[in-house]
Amino acid sequence: MKKVAVIGGGLGGLSAAITLANAGMDVTVFEKNKDLGGKMRSIDLGTHHFDFGPNTITMRPVFQQVLAQTGVDPDDYLNFIPLRVHMKNVSSKGEVLYFSNDQQYMIEQIKKFSLSDAENYPAFITEISRIYFLAQRHFLQTTFTSWRDYMKPSLLSALVKVRPFETLNQFIRKYFQHPFIVQCFLRYATYIGSSPYIMPATFAMIAYLELVDGVDYVEGGTSKIAQAFTTRAKQLGVKFHVGCEVTKVKYGKTQIHSIIDQYGITHTVDAVFMNSDRLSDLFELDQVKKDIQPSSSAFVILLGLNKRIEGLHHHNVYFPENYELEFDALFSDHYVEDPTIYICNSSYTDRSISPSGDNLLILVNAPPTKKGTLQIDSHQYRQKIIIQLKELGLDIEDAIVEGKVITPEYLEKEFYAFRGALYGAASNSVKSAFFRPSNRHAKLKNLYFVGGTVHPGGGSPLVTLGGMNVAKKYIAENGQEI
Ligand SMILES: Cc1cc2nc3c(=O)[nH]c(=O)nc-3n(C[C@H](O)[C@H](O)[C@H](O)COP(=O)(O)OP(=O)(O)OC[C@H]3O[C@@H](n4cnc5c(N)ncnc54)[C@H](O)[C@@H]3O)c2cc1C
Repeated sequence: MKKVAVIGGGLGGLSAAITLANAGMDVTVFEKNKDLGGKMRSIDLGTHHFDFGPNTITMRPVFQQVLAQTGVDPDDYLNFIPLRVHMKNVSSKGEVLYFSNDQQYMIEQIKKFSLSDAENYPAFITEISRIYFLAQRHFLQTTFTSWRDYMKPSLLSALVKVRPFETLNQFIRKYFQHPFIVQCFLRYATYIGSSPYIMPATFAMIAYLELVDGVDYVEGGTSKIAQAFTTRAKQLGVKFHVGCEVTKVKYGKTQIHSIIDQYGITHTVDAVFMNSDRLSDLFELDQVKKDIQPSSSAFVILLGLNKRIEGLHHHNVYFPENYELEFDALFSDHYVEDPTIYICNSSYTDRSISPSGDNLLILVNAPPTKKGTLQIDSHQYRQKIIIQLKELGLDIEDAIVEGKVITPEYLEKEFYAFRGALYGAASNSVKSAFFRPSNRHAKLKNLYFVGGTVHPGGGSPLVTLGGMNVAKKYIAENGQEI
């Protein structure tokens, strides 16, 4: 029986572990923290439940597939609830545009701002669908384990067809003119921590996921996904060492032989799946470039309120007047003066998770950390955001009964995320977007990489898909054991 160690219990590690165990491998997951799920974790403050990390869930079938491949009915583990109207976008002038995957509803919404933008919406949807399906076939579903995989003629031919040399901003403006409509669609760049003014238009495919496929919530909280994966992994015999950091790997010329945990215990292995941040290069296996531009990080405020705030939807975004300034600041390592504010209030959909009042996860994009310097007074910045919300008509201060702030420095320390970045390298260039670190080490042939910092990229569905596909590749090469 092949012994596989998975370093890191994030979604990428868990989906790989399930897939490997289902094929009869002897799998052990090592997670430095007490919680499994990595950046997807639940936090309870009093009677208020929060899902830290992924709240906007797209690509539902990917999560279901991880469970279904093991012969169980995913519905026995997770109850996905589609959100027909999934986002309330609010402009700096107080205009409101709701997002939905109902095309007709969207056209009616956009019509209120611009007739021609509304007329162009179907063509926009057709084009982002085309890009998505090409990307899905050639990038998202593919596992890259050697430089040859990046050079396949079919991949290169697909690459030129997905608008890599146009920016997202240029692409969106071909269809929409109204500044607020444009702003709403540009925000998709931040789903992978990048700038819409420089990132390739290819990432308009993220809009496809929301505006065509739709957004889901999970009953009981989105972190139920990580919990369901953990349950299924245990049922399949995966062993978990939680609160157990891997501190060293021992290797020869082409193979890792063993890993050593924080207690000094040596575990021999046939293969290692590394779910920890590739850019952090914890084990100094090779010279990962440190001049990489990291994706943005996040400044998160969790607030439990003693009442329900009228007008708040499940997902809400409050935009500033000048959107471009936000990215100028973030990618020159500064906090944003007038940031876009995202608020998740999941108790809008699921009262049971926060019965005594709203559970607000307030997120603003933040720059990556700088070694040795705390870039912001977190209390002051929290207050600034609460005041900004008051000016926008959301007076929450007196209703706060629970609170917690999470900074980029915390993300770096807690998850060993390179400079606290949410998604590894920013996808601000063709190279960084399409040639992410591969899924196997160049020399150590039994060392595989999964998670948001490697191919196919960040975001909960992609890391889950990547974890499953890399595991399948390993199984295909090493044989099914049952
Ligand atoms: C605030 C925030 C909001 C987000 N919002 C969304 C969203 O709405 N939708 C969405 O799809 N995605 C969202 N994401 C992104 C999503 O959370 C990530 O892309 C995904 O969860 C990353 O999974 P992963 O498997 O790559 O790794 P991680 O979740 O980073 O897990 C890696 C694990 O490895 C562990 N580890 C590291 N080193 C070691 C070691 N040496 N030994 C043992 N363990 C180790 C870490 O502790 C960590 O638990 C958000 C992220 C954040 C932080």
